[in-house]
Amino acid sequence: MNSTSISALPLNSHLSYTADGLALDGVALAPLAQQHQTPLFVYSKSAMQDALTAYQAGFEGRQVSICYAMKANSSLAVLQVFAQAGCGFDIVSGGELERALAVGAAPNRIIFSGVGKTRAEMRRALQVGIGCFNVESVAELNVLNEVALAMGTQAPISLRVNPNVDAKTHPYISTGLKGNKFGIAHEEVLQTYQRAAQLPGLRVVGIDCHIGSQITEVEPYLDAMDRILDLVLAIETAGIALAHIDFGGGLGIDYQGDTPPRANELWQSLFARLDARGFGQRHFMIEPGRSLVGNAGVCLTEVLYLKDGEHKNFCIVDAAMNDLPRPAMYEAYHRIVEVQPRARGAAMYDVVGPVCESGDWLGRDRSLTVQSGDYLAVLSAGAYCMSMSSNYNTRSRAAELMIAEGQTHLIRQREPLSDLWQREHLLPSATSAA
Ligand SMILES: *Cc1c(COP(=O)(O)O)cnc(C)c1O
Repeated sequence: MNSTSISALPLNSHLSYTADGLALDGVALAPLAQQHQTPLFVYSKSAMQDALTAYQAGFEGRQVSICYAMKANSSLAVLQVFAQAGCGFDIVSGGELERALAVGAAPNRIIFSGVGKTRAEMRRALQVGIGCFNVESVAELNVLNEVALAMGTQAPISLRVNPNVDAKTHPYISTGLKGNKFGIAHEEVLQTYQRAAQLPGLRVVGIDCHIGSQITEVEPYLDAMDRILDLVLAIETAGIALAHIDFGGGLGIDYQGDTPPRANELWQSLFARLDARGFGQRHFMIEPGRSLVGNAGVCLTEVLYLKDGEHKNFCIVDAAMNDLPRPAMYEAYHRIVEVQPRARGAAMYDVVGPVCESGDWLGRDRSLTVQSGDYLAVLSAGAYCMSMSSNYNTRSRAAELMIAEGQTHLIRQREPLSDLWQREHLLPSATSAA
């Protein structure tokens, strides 16, 4: 067995090397890849439940609603795990609303975020009775008011506040700074609440913020919290009651030795601040995504070719940027390990996919002991991988498995190629000019 691979594994109690190679919850992965082909996502239900339990452990004696941010991984069986565990959902589109409803989510536990909600999406969300719209601009506030009035109803709203704090994460996943498109500027929040309170189609129920993703420190949360609590005081002094305070999501995971606080530790610090300021017994909401699913999944891929370049060696695999877009999009790091480690022959490779783009890489300068036909596992592939996947290069999206109570379940069939052009139409055949 190859000791570098083992030491490279994240602190993940669900992944281990056994005599049969890499295993998830004790289930060997190589036979799964053989049976279901690659690329193949494999998730652990118990890893998702453990991640959820870490949050819940920090919430004992408190009133906190957890709304899973389903854009991280919106596969139905994943949603089902969280719905059955009592979570609500944070959605960002009408499509996500229908997915949540498809697994039987309680509509009143769904909150709707995002800067570009359409009138049709608002109408559908009002029709099914979602719990809250997280409104991100005055223009949206006015449109939502109109839509609700036309339906003879009131829309429950919270304003998403941009607290202008630096989440110290990648600029593409930082959302709480002044230059971001998200939320309502701190200075304009009070007057916007006063406007919202006057609109007859709206009912103010809360306040919310979400400062970014893959946050690995406590300080940005504390900074944002202080700023939100200042606003809560000002808004309530103005006579507008806020039934809940939503602190968003964003807690990071260990991709490459990152050391984010554990969910319960983070919340211990946050509740210390909330208690000190007299807010400890309020109703809170949170919207975690990545931290609930990111390290619960791997993507298995087969080594197609090893190619020696002049400056670099390439390990060409059958997974690509359409399956795992994070490296191409954010230069994100995913650990990549051998499923069945070989004893010798380690070399440095760039692990790349077959897509015709130089950006199609999964990992750079990785020491691997591989031959063509071997399987590799891309780790931390539970969040923002399948849900971001595409059909670029007319590649069908991967299959997904979930290991639950020792059994392996196919939760998404590999997309048949013919599905990819099933709703396309040819032009009518050219008619003769004669
Ligand atoms: C993406 C998103 C989340 C979840 O972020 P994670 O980093 O995955 O926890 C929560 N709230 C909103 C509004 C989001 O856009």
